[in-house]
Parts: sequence; C-alpha cells; structure tokens
Amino acid sequence: MSQDADDDATGSAGDQDFAPLPIDLLPWHESACDKLTAAVASQRLSHGLLLQGPAGVGKERFASALAAALFCTGRAERLEACGECAECRLSKAGTHPDLHWLRIPDDKKSIGVDQVREVCEQLSMTSMRRGYRVAVIAPAEKMTPSAQNALLKTLEEPSPRTVLVLVTARPSALLPTLRSRCQRIEVARPGNSLALRWLTEMLGAVPPPRLLAVAGGSPLKALALAPHFAGLEEQMAGLLEAFLDRRIEVTRAANDMQGAGLQTRLDWLEAWLVATVQVATGVANENPLTIRAGSPLQRAAAELNITAAFQVLDRLREARRLLEGPASAPLVVETLLLELRAAASAR
Ligand SMILES: [Zn+2]
Repeated sequence: MSQDADDDATGSAGDQDFAPLPIDLLPWHESACDKLTAAVASQRLSHGLLLQGPAGVGKERFASALAAALFCTGRAERLEACGECAECRLSKAGTHPDLHWLRIPDDKKSIGVDQVREVCEQLSMTSMRRGYRVAVIAPAEKMTPSAQNALLKTLEEPSPRTVLVLVTARPSALLPTLRSRCQRIEVARPGNSLALRWLTEMLGAVPPPRLLAVAGGSPLKALALAPHFAGLEEQMAGLLEAFLDRRIEVTRAANDMQGAGLQTRLDWLEAWLVATVQVATGVANENPLTIRAGSPLQRAAAELNITAAFQVLDRLREARRLLEGPASAPLVVETLLLELRAAASAR
C-alpha cells in the first residue's frame, strides 16, 4: 500500500485506479472548509495548497471533497459538493477527468520526478470539463527532492484554474521553498467528544474510551482499529503481564510483538504509558488500559516511577523513529521491553 496507512484512502498508485474516496466532508473538517470557502469567494485561492494534519483525520478524504467541490456546478456559496450534478457524479465514481492523484508506486518508496512532470503536463492542458484541474499528491513528503523542485516550477508559473493539493502529516519534510509557495490548510484532530460521537454513529455502538486513546485521538484510525481492538488488548495485556512477571523471556515477548501489527502494538504500549503517567500525576483516576485487576500490568502501573515512565515513553518514540530506518526491529523492541521492565522494578 502506498498511501499513509493511518489515513483513510484505499488503493494503489497511478491515476484513479483505486477505490474512490467519498466526496462529503467529515464533521471536524468544517473550519478547514470555511477557510477555503473564504479564499474562493475572494478569488484568493492559491494554486498550491498544503493540506496538513496528523494521521487518521481524513486529509485525503478532505482533498477528495475539495476537488469535487471545485468541480461541482450545483453548489451554493459554501465550498461543498452538491453530490447531484454531472460533475459530482463523476467525482463520486472516481472518474472525473480533471482530477489526478499522485501516490507512491507499489514498487517504489517515493514519488519520482517523472510522475510529477507527467501530472504537471496534464494540468497545463485545457480542462476536460471547462472547470478547475486538480492534482492531489499524497503523501507529499515522499516526493524526491527533484520531484519537489519540478513541482516548484509549476507553482511559479501556474496555469489558470489549476490547484495542486499537497497532503502531508510531516510538512517539515518538504523543501522550505515549496512550503512557502503553498497556502497552508490545517486539518485538525477533533475534540474527544466529537470524535466519540462520530465513532458511535459509525460503529453503531459506544466504543470503549480507550480505543480512541490507542488511536492517538484520530477517529479514522480508531474506526479501522475497532474490529481488532478486543483482541489487541487481550494480547498486549497478556504479553506484558507475562513478561513483567518474568514468565517469558524478552526474545519471546519481542517476537510476539513483531509483524504487521507492530505499530499498533506500540500505539497500545504508548497509550498505556501515557495513561500511567496521567494516573501518577493525578490527571486521571485509573489507567483504563489495565484490564485485569491485580495483574502484573496493574502492579507495574501503580509502581512505575514517574521519571522512569517518562524515560520509557521517550525511548518508545525513539524506537518508532529507529523502526522507520534500517534498524533491526527485534533488537529495537527487545531493548524497549527491557527498559520497561527495569523501570517497573526500579522503585
Ligand atoms: Zn455538484
């Protein structure tokens, strides 16, 4: 999969050969939409938009809704697609000829200069439908430096009614010259109550509050995690209890954390540590991720020295950074688990 695994898109690289994203906004997209509506109304919509925000808030969904709204011939003043007109029907089907998606090809790790040149060429041609032409680049920070430079040229001499949407969770990874050419649109994480209301509606049931905590407050991430959440909790609690109780070796514990779910297991561990710190500092009454009373995990949460807990949290974030590089995953996880056990028995 080429797109940000934490975001809401599905599909692979290439022009529109993936399942189309919905064209309606999510409830927490309102303020970003207001900002763009004002820009269009005053004819100050930039040719380059930097759509930034954390993973799991639906940035790509927002880009899809924005493109559809720009194409839509039936919309009112607000920049929101009507969903009914001929343009909207094309957008919904994912076949609008003036929308181009640029993603990481399945066999590559970045978005290359040739892909950018090709899309810029397409944008410079006349619109197929006499309206806007839009290219969405996601994740934009995965463009190679030469790809970013090629894009910069297009932004310096833009064709009328063309919009380049750069979607990113890490704007600092883009060239400063490219960033400065773009209008920044923030897609923020919703507050907990709005996120929980939306999740309840989507799931048809009230989710456990800890689901959102493990998803880092990102509703789409929580929604994707929901079907596996009970299993994840059971596994992680059992694994950590056995490890902290010295019933299993570190190699076995680290091994059980590996695989496709490693990032999610680290999310769980991070949420547990954060909750533990919150209990220790009086911010919260109990750690909702300690699912068995009297368990080694609950003992550890109660006994974990707060300085040590912060240190383990730092190490966990460091481990995530290392895992993005060529570091050996088992070794990184083993080191982290040993630090956790040392911190749990330090006091
Ligand atoms: Zn429409």
